[in-house]
Amino acid sequence: MPEDHAETASDLLGQRLARVAARLREAERRFGRPPGSVRLLPVSKTRPAADIARVARAGYHAFGESYLQEALDKQQQLAALGLEWHFIGPVQSNKTQAIARHFDWLHSVEREKIARRLSVQRPPELPPLNVCLQVNISGEASKSGCALDALPVLASRVRELPGLRLRGLMAIPAREADFERQRAAFRRLREARDALDADGFALDTLSMGMSADLEAAVAEGATIVRVGSDIFGARK
Ligand SMILES: *Cc1c(COP(=O)(O)O)cnc(C)c1O
Repeated sequence: MPEDHAETASDLLGQRLARVAARLREAERRFGRPPGSVRLLPVSKTRPAADIARVARAGYHAFGESYLQEALDKQQQLAALGLEWHFIGPVQSNKTQAIARHFDWLHSVEREKIARRLSVQRPPELPPLNVCLQVNISGEASKSGCALDALPVLASRVRELPGLRLRGLMAIPAREADFERQRAAFRRLREARDALDADGFALDTLSMGMSADLEAAVAEGATIVRVGSDIFGARK
């Protein structure tokens, strides 16, 4: 059967996607999570719009991006698909306006000042921007994320902002090969969420787990896993 190159490449993508989806369902089963309770967020940074369209055809409608200009370009190319866009990269002040205007979710709020700007800049005709607070659960090993002891104050402030809807917590732990150590890091994020909920927050999102550690994240209560390379292939 004749197949052009693009078709062959997109079959590979479909196979990798199916494999990740199967891993996720198996992790839900193994760790007693209800089937379908963990959402797979394909992370399409550095990948072309055609790859996103292929994954969208398989039934996924939300995508994670980390590089603003690249994401905006792809949003334009794919506007007809009505996709949901999640910004998961670091946010500097000069990016807040475009993020507030063009994204549905932001996983990486780590400072009150940025949160305030986003809230003011969120267009009133859009629903509030869904946000997660990025938490540093790896201490010295990580530069990004709010410190655990600063989290309650940040969460209280963000909760009051009308342009934002505080959904939960996100973390990118230091790389660990050992499953139990991966789990221990994700457990710290879950415990931070539990502590906030005990204080009256009703957080419904734990954004944690990537290609290399999604099983450990599911074991500790992830509700969104962000998977890039195991779906789209290794990034250059
Ligand atoms: C790139 C990225 C991912 C995906 O990482 P993979 O290891 O490719 O699955 C997840 N989360 C964030 C914040 C990222 O920047």
